Amino acid sequence: NFMKSDARIYIAGHRGLVGSAIHRSLEEQGFTQVITRTHRELDLLDRAAVEAFFAAERPEFVFLAAAKVGGILANNTYPADFIRDNLVIQTNVIEASRINEVKRLLFLGSSCIYPKLCSQPIKEEYLLTGPLEPTNRPYAIAKIAGIEQCWSYNRQYGTQYLAAMPTNLYGPEDNFDLNNSHVLPALIRKTAEAKKAGEKQMTVWGTGTPRRELMYSDDLAQGCTFLMNLDEARFQSLLVEDAPPLINIGTGEDVTIRELAETVARVLEFDGELVFDTTKPDGTPRKLMDVGRLHRLGWHHTTSLEQGIRLTWEAVRSQLTA
Ligand code: GDP
Repeated sequence: NFMKSDARIYIAGHRGLVGSAIHRSLEEQGFTQVITRTHRELDLLDRAAVEAFFAAERPEFVFLAAAKVGGILANNTYPADFIRDNLVIQTNVIEASRINEVKRLLFLGSSCIYPKLCSQPIKEEYLLTGPLEPTNRPYAIAKIAGIEQCWSYNRQYGTQYLAAMPTNLYGPEDNFDLNNSHVLPALIRKTAEAKKAGEKQMTVWGTGTPRRELMYSDDLAQGCTFLMNLDEARFQSLLVEDAPPLINIGTGEDVTIRELAETVARVLEFDGELVFDTTKPDGTPRKLMDVGRLHRLGWHHTTSLEQGIRLTWEAVRSQLTA
């Protein structure tokens, strides 16, 4: 392993879905010096505070999982917040990492950085080859800027910054608030509520035909620590000069929103009918990652969709049915 068990590892955004899974994974793997700060302890929008924190803590490895995130509705309602906060957070953390000679940084983004209508499965090379999905363009452009920042810093400063683009994630730490959540937590919550109320129907947004790839958060965390731990030669092979330092993390498999809703209904034992509200947006028709680059490095996900939904449901059940 490239990271020694006493390496100083900072997780920016350790309370989020991605960051908390990385946190759990590092602790399970026996890392003894994992550094975290809550939002209240360290405001990542505050450049001076970020630089002072890095100078004091001197992390050697940084997982940059802090971001302003949300589903279609939140992205539509607060576009300025999404582009501003994400640009500022990543600029502050990347610059502080350079000043303090962080050995490796993993910048987390999302598959929405790729063009809306690009061929599937999506290869890393498709970045910036076409127009983005408009509903989350401000977020996506901030994330694309982050990839460019990693690439530029590597060229100018010889840093080892890698951008990992996870597919859609889900897990127990997800946001289950119906106003700004992604599809899976929303479906789990709505199904739980419909079941509890004894309703015969459950409403799904859109036509049910868009396809999404979904990955369990613990699998993503393992993928991230796997990348950070790559030996020098394999890590360098991802940081070539003429292409962005970019790697997809996903399962390589997708399902329709209808199949997803049906799987949730099966796990939660809801036997009512699914109703499709076509006044709500579908978003991108399909988003499936090509994960060949990751598989060739020797890593593969382990949790199936149904298994992951079951684990998530078991973890949040009491909280959602209270
Ligand atoms: P996206 O992956 O960036 O498009 O964002 P979402 O996770 O919010 O939505 C994914 C797909 O799920 C879209 O086609 C939505 O219309 C559909 N969907 C179905 N029901 C829901 C729901 O209750 N909440 C959300 N957020 N999406 C839903």
